[in-house]
Amino acid sequence: MSLLENKDDLKELVDGLNFKEKVDRSLALIREAYEKYGDGLVVADSLGKDSVAVWDLAKKVAPEIRGFIITTRFKPKETVQFMHEEVARYPELEVYKNDVEIPDKLYATDPDRCCHLLKVEPTRLAVEEMNVQCWVTGLRCTEGRTRVDFKEVEERDKDLIKLNPILIWKEREVWQYLALNRVTVNPLYAEGYRSLGCAPCTKISHGEDERAGRWVGTSKCGGECGIHTRPLKMTESCVCPEYDRK
Ligand code: SF4
Repeated sequence: MSLLENKDDLKELVDGLNFKEKVDRSLALIREAYEKYGDGLVVADSLGKDSVAVWDLAKKVAPEIRGFIITTRFKPKETVQFMHEEVARYPELEVYKNDVEIPDKLYATDPDRCCHLLKVEPTRLAVEEMNVQCWVTGLRCTEGRTRVDFKEVEERDKDLIKLNPILIWKEREVWQYLALNRVTVNPLYAEGYRSLGCAPCTKISHGEDERAGRWVGTSKCGGECGIHTRPLKMTESCVCPEYDRK
């Protein structure tokens, strides 16, 4: 049976598979999806540890696989520097950024709106411009409260598949993979961060919830920017009027 159509109990697999079995499953998912979607398969690289693991897995399947990075004016300087290094190493990574004018400190007054403008809109544009049929993410179901119910293969938007090939990996297994494969990571992890985002909305955290340091002090704390929860396909009523690419 096709792994893309599996109905496996993912919660059982989180503890039931060992590290090597999980890596093999992730590679098989990407390989099968690449055979199906070819150049329409594109990796979304957030420059976090999970994304660079997925990017490395994808490169093992086919070096020509493309990717996109969504950056914002609020990314920490270390992340921006890391982004430049990654793009120099992998020119097949396209960078998207929305430079539209927004109210001062919108991240504090309305973080959902800020994320929508600076993250969701550019993701929509990337999906359209790169003719994405299947986007590949580093989302994991053990990351926090908002990520427990995702599937390895989803069709949130019509004609746009989302593949989450490391969905069942634990945080330790991501680091295990990165160390064993000598994958370069964002230097902010050495400072103690566990989940990376924009500077005003990311704090160092520890404890159970890996994403607890995101949007601390807002209703969005430990939550989502919207790219995994909102529609990404542009329709005629959604033509990105608030996108300003400089
Ligand atoms: S993470 Fe914060 S600064 Fe970045 S887009 Fe979202 S609300 Fe704005």
